[in-house]
Amino acid sequence: MDLDRINELRAQPVAPAFHIIDGARSAASDGATMQVVSPLDGRVLTTVPKGTKADAEAAVAAARTAFDDGRWSDRAPAERKAVMLRWAALIEENALELAVLGVRDNGTEIGMAVKAEPLSAAATIRYYAEAIDKLYGEIAPTGHGNLGLVHREPVGVVGAIVPWNFPLMIGAWKLGPALAAGCTVVLKPAETASLTLLRLAELALEAGMPAGVLNVVTGEGAVIGAAIAESMEVDVLVFTGSGPTGRRLLEASARSNLKRVYLELGGKSPNIVFADTADLDEAAKVSANGIFRNSGQVCVAGSRLLVERAVHDVFVEKLAAHARTMKVGDPLDVATAAGAVNSLRQLEQNLGFVEEARAAGREIMGGNRILEETGGYFMEPTIVTGVSPQDRLAQEEVFGPVLAVMPFDTEDEAVALANGTDFGLAAAVWTADLSRAHRMVRRIRAGIVHVNTYGGSDLTVPLGGVKQSGNGHDKSLHAFDKYLDLKTAWFKL
Ligand code: NAD
Repeated sequence: MDLDRINELRAQPVAPAFHIIDGARSAASDGATMQVVSPLDGRVLTTVPKGTKADAEAAVAAARTAFDDGRWSDRAPAERKAVMLRWAALIEENALELAVLGVRDNGTEIGMAVKAEPLSAAATIRYYAEAIDKLYGEIAPTGHGNLGLVHREPVGVVGAIVPWNFPLMIGAWKLGPALAAGCTVVLKPAETASLTLLRLAELALEAGMPAGVLNVVTGEGAVIGAAIAESMEVDVLVFTGSGPTGRRLLEASARSNLKRVYLELGGKSPNIVFADTADLDEAAKVSANGIFRNSGQVCVAGSRLLVERAVHDVFVEKLAAHARTMKVGDPLDVATAAGAVNSLRQLEQNLGFVEEARAAGREIMGGNRILEETGGYFMEPTIVTGVSPQDRLAQEEVFGPVLAVMPFDTEDEAVALANGTDFGLAAAVWTADLSRAHRMVRRIRAGIVHVNTYGGSDLTVPLGGVKQSGNGHDKSLHAFDKYLDLKTAWFKL
């Protein structure tokens, strides 16, 4: 990585940013702005528009017109592909700039930010662009005298509401398939991570995407997000974030036009270690990364460690040893393993969980805010043992570097603990017993079960949850299902 360039970029002031609506930059209709506070030092980095309901409605109107007049949806898939491939190339050309801007905005460590943000977004956009001119409709196996054709059509205007942990990666998981399919989009970034998505939309215009096809509106969730969710002109809503917001979006859909709502709501993912695990050292190292990378701000983070009692103490000590080697601090230092917590609010929430566990008599390793003198929001990796399955720490998503540890004695007990929350996003099983691994994959209610690893993934496999972790899938060709409708054409021959 080009360290000089990183230092040069971090020293540059960041100009105030603007909405991208109908192909142009615009301020909020009443001129209001929101301060962007950097989690690296607690200082104001720049401003973004504090959008109004009118701004959200203008963006939806632009997306509606752009969809209905066919400037994007009626283009041949190969033409949309060409624009999106240029867009992906521009994102790659600007990868370091985007990554540093994103780190200054949201605190993710730079090594992960480059890979997981611009490069991952470019790869995602390219994947869906490449796929769209290879999807065919169907001829149904009807009886004589009839012909049934099944067309796949873009659903229309997509509202995308995304979180702050990986704005470009998660944004691209929605934008890639939606735009390739021919939909138009109104995207609302999180309050604390808007800057890179605004830049992404500018690069789309530069690549030749027509005005109104991708609109980005910044502001408060309760204003902009709510206006998109309530709109009669939005056909599909895709969301990643918290459960309470997900509920509001479903209610808004029910109150308005019954738009389809796809939710990715995080989890309390169990990482299950059996005593027969072949390499406990490797398991401990991967498990430490599985919870502490990006300061635990990962929806699939392995935040509950379930360990067979026979190896509980030794495994926790190994994991703690790895955690101690993870450098927490300046996310623009390439040696850093975990950067800043995204916001003061999130940091206080993390510390609140720890205090509650302490008050309940749980044993805590770490648990503190660190590097306070920098003004930044840093927290050390924290391991809480002796957690009861009923504790809030065992049931609710912290979204911070806090691991809840519980012992188990039997496979059935491990399954009961693993499935004993409202969530069902990710899980892992560590064992040398192949039959047990397959049994566990079947018995655990989660969208993804890792075996003898944690957190590996690829664009080619779907990501989505069950239970209250959500519905629908990002990634893989299955993601198109959210953005392509089936239409039957029935002919009498
Ligand atoms: P959130 O649900 O409040 O915010 C996510 C997005 O929804 C943001 O863009 C926000 O502006 C928008 N939003 C907020 N209120 C809204 C409303 N009333 N109507 C429409 N949109 C609204 O989540 P958060 O505050 O960013 O984080 C809180 C918790 O969410 C975290 O602690 C974590 O548990 C969870 N989270 C999960 C993921 C994930 O990947 N699954 C990512 C980020 C956060």
